[in-house]
Amino acid sequence: MRPGVIAKYREFLPVTERTPPLTLNEGDTPLVRSRRLAELLGVRELYFKYEGANPTGSFKDRGMVVAVAKAIEAGRRAVICASTGNTSAAAAAYAARAGLEAIVVVPAGKIATGKLAQALVHGARIVAVEGSFDDALCIVRTLTERHPIALVNSINPHRIEGQATAAYEIVDALGDAPDVLCLPVGNAGNITAYWEGFKRYHRAGRARRLPRLFGFQAAGAAPIVLGKPVPNPQTVATAIRIGNPASWQRAVRARDESDGRIEAVTDEEIVEAYRLLATHEGLFCELASAASLAGLRKALEHGWLSGSERIVCVLTGHGLKDPDTAVQFGGWLQKAPPEVEAVESLLGL
Ligand SMILES: *Cc1c(COP(=O)(O)O)cnc(C)c1O
Repeated sequence: MRPGVIAKYREFLPVTERTPPLTLNEGDTPLVRSRRLAELLGVRELYFKYEGANPTGSFKDRGMVVAVAKAIEAGRRAVICASTGNTSAAAAAYAARAGLEAIVVVPAGKIATGKLAQALVHGARIVAVEGSFDDALCIVRTLTERHPIALVNSINPHRIEGQATAAYEIVDALGDAPDVLCLPVGNAGNITAYWEGFKRYHRAGRARRLPRLFGFQAAGAAPIVLGKPVPNPQTVATAIRIGNPASWQRAVRARDESDGRIEAVTDEEIVEAYRLLATHEGLFCELASAASLAGLRKALEHGWLSGSERIVCVLTGHGLKDPDTAVQFGGWLQKAPPEVEAVESLLGL
């Protein structure tokens, strides 16, 4: 039974007796040991942290449950966020669970169907602005300065604290931190949260070591790699289409303190990794999530990693969030008349 992150990691979270015990039984996601891809890539010990198994299908639930619980504790009646999709899905679901109003501001036309469907069905009010995610974030920041509405983007420190529970779970599962953690980087809240989490667990004596963090941005949306904001970020991986990450400085610190790297992967490399995960491991993740594996392949090719490490790739969200993309890439699909012989011959049996 998953107790949910607030109950499970209470002592590591900013909760008090007055924090409501909100949960959709998030967390406790599978850490899947790789078989085929580990062999293909020549990695001794490789795992995938499958965050698509969270209640709304992404890691955002870990932080959102804490942020919404703290918003209730603070007496707020509404929450608001800017979103590339998954934050709004999580905000809408946890607000519904708690009986709060949810407002989401999204860049028009840039949200995957499944994520928009989630926010709609949970009853959020959605404003689609003709602009980028960065514009949307700027708008909600100003709105929360003017009105008593809780901001639940990852600049909310409770989001980061909740998301750190993924690091605790990995250590609990492996008995120690891995050598390397690979993950996609968008607004950079998650890399910040993992680093905070690993450090805190280490300080508490729960882990002997600290991992190196390898973060990957999409090449068309790689401000941290380029060292300057990207005014018009472009990538098929919509969840990381962000040109000016809110947690930029903290991500750089996580990289440097952990002796890690933040690098870019192309859309082609992301799509290839997305397909490899689905066809070789049975793991259907989002395009953005596949940046972790695309990045690992790059790190091995360039010799930044040798393959003798114990490596965890974070798969941040579920592939079903964006079925249009999956269908668009295609696969083996043939038509046949409803006759055994016709199907048999088509299949070459
Ligand atoms: C939010 C999100 C990311 C990026 O995480 P940041 O904390 O913004 O860096 C990556 N993948 C998925 C599926 C996401 O929802």
